[in-house]
Amino acid sequence: MTVAIDLRCTGCGACLTTCPERALVAAPRQPLVIDQRCTTCMACIEVCPAGAIREVYA
Ligand code: SF4
Ligand code: SF4
Repeated sequence: MTVAIDLRCTGCGACLTTCPERALVAAPRQPLVIDQRCTTCMACIEVCPAGAIREVYA
């Protein structure tokens, strides 16, 4: 499992500083997810004000 970010992302950056695994990295349009690092802890999903992050099967 990992997470995916959809077009509702506003680029606020909240998830970047929340991820304990540093699995989210800044990118021009929206953060990139490094699937191998994600433990699906859900922290980014809970913090995202846009509801743009969801769990997905990698
Ligand atoms: S689910 Fe957890 S480990 Fe995965 S990207 Fe979000 S905050 Fe990071
Ligand atoms: S917290 Fe949500 S809206 Fe903000 S950068 Fe992350 S995915 Fe985008």
